[in-house]
Amino acid sequence: MGMESPQSQTVRAGQIPHRWTRVDDPGAEFVVAAYETVIAGGGPAGLTGAYELTRHGRTCVVLEADARMVGGISRTDEYKGYRFDIGGHRFFSKSSEVNGLWREILGGELITRSRLSRIYYGRKFFYYPLKPVDALWKLGPWRSARILLSYIKARLSPIRPERTFEAWVVNRFGRVLFEIFFKSYTEKLWGMSTSEISADWAAQRIKGLSLVAAVVNGLFGGLKSRKGEVIKTLIDEFQYPRLGPGQMWEAVRDRIRGQGGAVHLDRKVVRIEHDGSAVTAFIAADSQGRMTRYLGSHFLSTMPVRDLIRAMDPPAPAEVSAAAGALRYRDFLTVVLIIDRPETFPDTWIYIHEPDVRVGRIQNFKNWSPELVPDASRSSLGLEYFCFEGDDLWNRTDADLLELGRREIDAIGLVAASDVVDGCVVRMPKAYPVYDDEYQGHLAVIRRWLANLSNLELAGRNGMHKYNNQDHSMMTALLAARNILGLGRYDTWKVNTDAEYHEEGGEADNQNAGRIVPRRVSAA
Ligand SMILES: Cc1cc2nc3c(=O)[nH]c(=O)nc-3n(C[C@H](O)[C@H](O)[C@H](O)COP(=O)(O)OP(=O)(O)OC[C@H]3O[C@@H](n4cnc5c(N)ncnc54)[C@H](O)[C@@H]3O)c2cc1C
Repeated sequence: MGMESPQSQTVRAGQIPHRWTRVDDPGAEFVVAAYETVIAGGGPAGLTGAYELTRHGRTCVVLEADARMVGGISRTDEYKGYRFDIGGHRFFSKSSEVNGLWREILGGELITRSRLSRIYYGRKFFYYPLKPVDALWKLGPWRSARILLSYIKARLSPIRPERTFEAWVVNRFGRVLFEIFFKSYTEKLWGMSTSEISADWAAQRIKGLSLVAAVVNGLFGGLKSRKGEVIKTLIDEFQYPRLGPGQMWEAVRDRIRGQGGAVHLDRKVVRIEHDGSAVTAFIAADSQGRMTRYLGSHFLSTMPVRDLIRAMDPPAPAEVSAAAGALRYRDFLTVVLIIDRPETFPDTWIYIHEPDVRVGRIQNFKNWSPELVPDASRSSLGLEYFCFEGDDLWNRTDADLLELGRREIDAIGLVAASDVVDGCVVRMPKAYPVYDDEYQGHLAVIRRWLANLSNLELAGRNGMHKYNNQDHSMMTALLAARNILGLGRYDTWKVNTDAEYHEEGGEADNQNAGRIVPRRVSAA
């Protein structure tokens, strides 16, 4: 479990003199008062915060709800020796500090991988970003003619007003190309029709790309945005830990312990006691329902904002609770299939644009790192299904989901069902924080109230309701730790998409930053 055994001592308020105390009440709540900082969540954010604190000689404890693993969404799970990601996790950052930290932790264990991630449609692979000559060739003369005609039509009479994702893409690529390459995947991912998603998401996400630009790229290569930066979707090399992202986070966990910190698994923070001006304790439950009260001087939360507010004791004011209750998430599950073939396809992952199957993306783990697959004569694939917790997919039994995966991979012609020899299912709730029209207003209400709790820092993806990558989550936690260390006064909400950051009062407010997520269009 990663917990030290209790020692009977007395709790002295405001002090951190010892490791363990036990209250004499037979209701048996353990009290831990050994750590200056208590951190909720053992994902990249929580662990990075703890690493930074312990590196500076300060004590802290990370409380992780999962009973087995650290790493959160960036963990590496294992089934019969097959290691796999929850999604595929590229290690790519514009921040030299984050890159330096990754190298410091894993050094030579980080391997450089080439990205090949194509679109699979009509039993053919298409490059993404689109290479029009290649795409038109593969789609054949009849469909290519329709694409060109629909493109010309869209240019001559564009949809106005351009409010929706659908209108934005159709206006730039034509309807036929939109239907093949944009509609079905986007709808699978977000669970919304493309006519409900606002155009600004397309503008940001597909920034700088148009059919004309893509043709120019196909002919001359080196697609650049107007600012001269290589467009983001073209990043084609990344770092990856030899044994998957979990290797990074397991190594950070060990370093934290080596530096005098603690990581307690099976500790779900369920109650947060405060006196209106400061947090006084995180109370964590284990899977047996036993409670432990962690006292501290500083608290760092990377647990979902919605859960944080719900856990407040005394409760947050009604409008704050309502705002937290309105934050929404998109959930995710992976069906891992073990295939009795040494090779399946050369991509690291592929996007499934076939509209008649529900699988959205497939990870080919052997191509992330051959060491994720213990038997060289076999492969393992992760079929990703985007869903909402409690919907029909989420509630299916594992056996049903395995059967669905087997059937769909056969139906789209990638792998024969008879080659699937085994598999498992992993569900990941709250994989994506949802940005809808109201979420910023809700966050503003929550942040205003949380500002009263002077010793509470927030960091991470769901911890700040920001759709971002590991590097961004790590950077917010690094800055939160520096606030605790007294090394500056950083506004973690200003860490932007590319994990650049500014000290308080510095650059323009980047509170809207984070990876860009579609927004539902408001009623006309
Ligand atoms: C499909 C997919 C693909 C991705 N691909 C990439 C990629 O290629 N590259 C990249 O850099 N990033 C990628 N990401 C993003 C990356 O996974 C996250 O940015 C990162 O894991 C966020 O770290 P975090 O610590 O903020 O949150 P999380 O990873 O969510 O960790 C939070 C931790 O807190 C724990 N927790 C929650 N509630 C409580 C509680 N009440 N008490 C105690 N513990 C609690 C959870 O169990 C979890 O371990 C991807 C994400 C998804 C969903």
